[in-house]
Amino acid sequence: MKSAIYPGSFDPVTYGHLDIIARAAAIFDELIISVLNNVKKTPLFSVEERVRILKDATKDIPNVKVESFSGLLVDYASQQDVHVIVRGLRAITDFEYELQNAQTNRLLSRGALDTMFFTTSLEYAYLSSTTVKEIASFGGNISDCVPDFVEKMIFEKYGIRK
Ligand code: ADP
Repeated sequence: MKSAIYPGSFDPVTYGHLDIIARAAAIFDELIISVLNNVKKTPLFSVEERVRILKDATKDIPNVKVESFSGLLVDYASQQDVHVIVRGLRAITDFEYELQNAQTNRLLSRGALDTMFFTTSLEYAYLSSTTVKEIASFGGNISDCVPDFVEKMIFEKYGIRK
């Protein structure tokens, strides 16, 4: 069975992430979406909330599993016996960061962990969780960015009634 891990913050998941998830799930037998528990960041949603949101948003894709992890991605992937990481690429600005991560993971895993990049669908090229949160914090329209139930949850976090 060919499995891949799609790691990320997903704070919260956007249509950009969901597009990558659907495309990767169509290629691999199993796609493990792994929410990174990064103690250095202060997220809007807790890891548990992000896992729950992702499970709900991907409930119609049978070969997707959602988990959380902390620590090194290479260790987590090795524990799962997975050798492919999925990441998304939007603009050139993503490239440098992603290339560095991919090469570091190859080095740390002694060549056992490769990264496969999916280029963004054009309509989501400028979509990021950060932008969505910023727009929402000012009460702006994010209905084209995230599923309805996520939109509701974001506005609730900011105490904004819609
Ligand atoms: P991280 O904090 O790990 O970068 P994110 O949740 O922001 O986590 O993103 C996870 C992955 O999804 C990254 O590879 C990112 O480039 C990709 N991604 C995020 N938004 C989009 C988008 N709109 N289109 C394509 N890929 C995206």
